[in-house]
Amino acid sequence: MSDHRWILSFAPGATQGSAELRTLLGAKGAGLHEMCRLDLPVPPGFTITTEACTHFFAHGEQWPAGLAEQLDVALDALQAASEQRLGDAQEPLLVSVRSGAAAAMPGMMDTVLNVGLNDVTVGGLAHRSGDARFAWDSYRRFVAMFGDVVLGIHYTRFSRAEEEFLAGRDITGLSVEELKALTARMIEVVSEYGTEFPQDPREQLRCAVDAVFRSYNSHRARYYRKRHGIDDDAGTAVSIQTMVFGNMGEGSGTGMCSTRNPNTGKPGLVGEWLPEAQGEDVLGKSEGIRSLLPRPDHDRPALSEALPHAFAALSAAADRLETHFGDMQDIEFTVERGELFLLQTREGGRTAQAAVQIVVDLVEEGKLTRDHGLCRIDPRQLEYVMRPVIHPTAKRKVVARGLDASPGAASGRVVFEASECLEAHDRQESTILVRLETSPEDIQGMTVAAGVLTARGGQTSHAAVVARGMGKPCVVGCTDIHVDYARELFYAGDSVVRKGDWITIDGGTGEVLDGRVDMVEPTADTGALAQLLLWADEYARLKVRANADTGADARRARELGAVGVGLSRTEHMFFQPDALRAIRRMILADDPRSRQRALNDMLPIQRAMFVELFREMDGLPVTIRLLDPPLHEFLPSKEHDVADVAMDLGVRPEALLGRLQQLHESNPMMGHRGVRIGVTTPEVYRTQVRAIFEAACEVSRGGASVMPEIMIPLVSIEQEIKVMRSLVADCAEQVLAEYGVDIEYRIGTMIEVPRAALMAAQIAPHADFFSFGTNDLTQLSYGFSRDDMGKYFPEYQRQGLLRESPLAVFDTQGTGQLVQMATETGRAAKPGLAVGICGEHGGDPVGVGFFHDIGLDYVSCSPYRVPVARLAAAHAALGVL
Ligand code: ADP
Ligand code: MG
Ligand code: MG
Repeated sequence: MSDHRWILSFAPGATQGSAELRTLLGAKGAGLHEMCRLDLPVPPGFTITTEACTHFFAHGEQWPAGLAEQLDVALDALQAASEQRLGDAQEPLLVSVRSGAAAAMPGMMDTVLNVGLNDVTVGGLAHRSGDARFAWDSYRRFVAMFGDVVLGIHYTRFSRAEEEFLAGRDITGLSVEELKALTARMIEVVSEYGTEFPQDPREQLRCAVDAVFRSYNSHRARYYRKRHGIDDDAGTAVSIQTMVFGNMGEGSGTGMCSTRNPNTGKPGLVGEWLPEAQGEDVLGKSEGIRSLLPRPDHDRPALSEALPHAFAALSAAADRLETHFGDMQDIEFTVERGELFLLQTREGGRTAQAAVQIVVDLVEEGKLTRDHGLCRIDPRQLEYVMRPVIHPTAKRKVVARGLDASPGAASGRVVFEASECLEAHDRQESTILVRLETSPEDIQGMTVAAGVLTARGGQTSHAAVVARGMGKPCVVGCTDIHVDYARELFYAGDSVVRKGDWITIDGGTGEVLDGRVDMVEPTADTGALAQLLLWADEYARLKVRANADTGADARRARELGAVGVGLSRTEHMFFQPDALRAIRRMILADDPRSRQRALNDMLPIQRAMFVELFREMDGLPVTIRLLDPPLHEFLPSKEHDVADVAMDLGVRPEALLGRLQQLHESNPMMGHRGVRIGVTTPEVYRTQVRAIFEAACEVSRGGASVMPEIMIPLVSIEQEIKVMRSLVADCAEQVLAEYGVDIEYRIGTMIEVPRAALMAAQIAPHADFFSFGTNDLTQLSYGFSRDDMGKYFPEYQRQGLLRESPLAVFDTQGTGQLVQMATETGRAAKPGLAVGICGEHGGDPVGVGFFHDIGLDYVSCSPYRVPVARLAAAHAALGVL
């Protein structure tokens, strides 16, 4: 193993690695090597591979044989090239020791800057730079950072000591002597903790490498990996890089930027910088932060004004990198006395909206092909594009304004601790986490919060970056609010907002609003999303319909690109008072005549709703499912309601109770429902079919093209569908004859009981289409019931028996077999049988991929997931997984 290569060096124009070696060099390392290949200004250094880290953990935290020697060799080369030496009193070499795994884990691991500083080299640095203040400032930073990251002394010990030392003064106002004293105090803090600050730069370097390795297994890094499904064994690479100094007086600074706007996707550099600062100073600060280009709301000079040469170099590099990678980049840079250095580039974090905009723009700019562009976007992200916004006419009482860090609006109760988000989440309450600023410890709470509001921090603060990644509304840098953790409240102007109060944040505008505010769901019929989805449709073979019960649902579905209604649940039509009362009277009727009277009252109500549906779906098929749920669902369940309903219907309460007992179901999912209602009470289905066809005739006479598809639920026996088919057809023909209208219609069945799948060959001849009801089919194939899964499913997940609920992510292995087999045998028995699925799996990318593979004709999902399904269908056709 000793001749195994553990280290690859990089320097502009002379580098051993490349972007392809990401697994070995980590994303950050690979980016540094690739920038060097492009001859961009990167401080030289070398990268210890992820393999060395994996070895480290596999062998009791020992370095692999050969690593120490290779490190010496790489260091010698670096020293020779720079004419600086580690520990040298005249020309000391200083380096950063940087973490970086293959999968991006922003801010989760550690980095140590200024390694190599000690009581001797600080003098050399002062001499070389001609700036003693700067040298001592770097040294005191180093001691604190080394103490925190490498020696495990909590950084608050250093910041507290610093605060005491400053006693209210500003650190930039300290003299050299005072900075020396402060540094000495920092070293003392280390001793107080029981360790010595190592003066030997080689030891500093070795310990820093170990600390960076170990940071891969820190609690927060492990949590992050778990949440993002990242392999725990991959390890981190360690890049050791010559320091450049943004804190070297005037003409120096540090910053980060994105090549396009990460919120909206608009082209053009955006970012922040801080003069006379180092590394992460720019994060989590709002004071002194400056923009790259002049902005009307900033009075301090932008980078383009303060350091025009560096800005021009940055713009050129940004352009180069974006074109090279074919994607928007996030870039870290430092300017040392007017000279620009690039320290990191990576695929930029962005909101879902921006992701879509960027892909569409890059395709149109010729930097990306359509199919690659489509593959860039995870279909699940499109749900975030559809995030709610505040209703345009809603009353807005703005109590404060901050920075728009991550779009979408959210309402919730105010909490000040991340742990309270988790508790509230268990009670199914939504929360807005309000903090001065967030830190990695807050991530679990942020995950379940509806939104995040911070008083401090800029667009690249922890809260902003993390919330954007989670697709969560977020407002940061809200200096209008004064947070008082101790009293659990914040002041905003004249208002006092206490823990538990409702607020709404608008991450698109940065506004903080009092109370709960009305929201609207966004549309996708404009702009980039519509364009992207049109491209997706060119590749997709699977059609996407929507589940829509009302005209309004249907309109929304059509706007989002659904090519039909795959499931209209007629029971939802009964939730309005007149209809509910009619169906209750029907259920309670003692004799056929009063039942028919009640049904006659239902008819016009249903007809009116079908009219709306057909009008909206002019020219597209509409699948209507005849009544499905057990009848007791329409009756009251609580005793005091029984009396009210009895009074309303003019029946004796005892009579109502008696009927309720008859209808009681011990397992409603398998109860008296679906086609069984059609068999026992055919008048109900006949009335529904009449309503459907009367509506169809009316709409057709109005000039629209109507394509009704009548769907029989819960069939498991050939005879059921046979009987129902003739019932539906007879009734339909009768209505069509009455109206003298000719309408093509189809009669089909849901396949949602395992036996129906097994009997597909017998059922198919009586059906024009199959629609798999994957919700019920999944429940029945596992024998799980959604209503009581909560009692055991979390334990299944905890023990790892099931990772995800099969109701959310389709079970391609088991339930999928039923779907595949029934499709094949059904089509064999009836050529031309149309086959689709309805149920939430129609909007689940895993399900969509599977349904594409087995050759279904369409999926049908809720309107908001139509874009998800359209893109997933394109991915399936393009062979992306
Ligand atoms: P993270 O993964 O947390 O961003 P980095 O390794 O990128 O950690 O480093 C943290 C900060 O230090 C960044 O702002 C980076 O630009 C800066 N930095 C890292 N190495 C150097 C260096 N050699 N010279 C100057 N600044 C550096
Ligand atoms: Mg970084
Ligand atoms: Mg069902």
